Amino acid sequence: MVGMDNLITGNTRNIAHLAGNPNFLFIKQDVTNYIYVDGPLDAVLHFASPASPIDYLKFPIQTLKVGALGTHNTLGLAKAKQARFLLASTSEIYGDPLEHPQKETYVGNVDAIGPRGVYDEAKRFAEAMTMAYHRTHGLDTRIVRIFNTYGPRMRLDDGRVVPNFIGQALRGEKLTVYGDGMQTRCFQFVTDLIEGVYRLLHCDFHEPVNIGTTEEININAFAQIVNEVTDNKAGIMYKTQERIKGDPQTRRPDTTRARELLNWTPQVGLREGLEQTIAYFREVL
Ligand code: UDP
Repeated sequence: MVGMDNLITGNTRNIAHLAGNPNFLFIKQDVTNYIYVDGPLDAVLHFASPASPIDYLKFPIQTLKVGALGTHNTLGLAKAKQARFLLASTSEIYGDPLEHPQKETYVGNVDAIGPRGVYDEAKRFAEAMTMAYHRTHGLDTRIVRIFNTYGPRMRLDDGRVVPNFIGQALRGEKLTVYGDGMQTRCFQFVTDLIEGVYRLLHCDFHEPVNIGTTEEININAFAQIVNEVTDNKAGIMYKTQERIKGDPQTRRPDTTRARELLNWTPQVGLREGLEQTIAYFREVL
């Protein structure tokens, strides 16, 4: 197995447990450049991209390049090796959705030139390119649309709501709720996502599949749960200015396709997943 990352948002600490494993090789590489891998490959899984809003605002051009050029190069690698290809896409494909919950057939409501456009359009291009390789070259492709995911090994300062809130709670600070906190998300635990991706890779289906929980919660209620689980008495504070333009007001996947096709449903509840994540952040703080 070969892992590649240019480490602009990642860290080799996350793969420290694989050091010395003879079946794993890490190559520091930016996949927007030509990719060379020795020997045969069964599958290419393209997950490279900043994924947190503050990261893709910090690296807008890299985000566009990895979604566009990075997807082209990883598809080219899969084609050369006659390997299966899986693209990590995103619920951001749907933008600030006008359909709720979001089915894979919904075409989305995205502002190409808004702050989130760099990520959303890169991933939309990546999906288009993946389908073009499938239709033109017969490449054996998969597309997973990943909804909000959290768990151990997230970066404490990656800016997303889960690490922000847990970091604040463990330091005994008020949790920073952006806007009025009425916007909703569904938070899935990372092991459920991995199971969904694994099942998708091993089934024969080429159109996008949503993977996420349908347990929808607004950010106020989510902050309360984090404060309860960490026993943080500091409460919350509203930061109206921090909410970036185009921040979706609602988000919830329709997961009928994943259920019927992959027999997949999430297994880890929010409190249980948060406890494991909090235990991890306690160690790194
Ligand atoms: N958010 C918040 N406080 C924070 C960080 C994020 O209230 O400290 C909100 C953010 O405005 C968004 C939601 O939490 O509505 C989820 O944000 P995140 O960055 O985790 O990912 P998104 O789902 O927006 O891509």
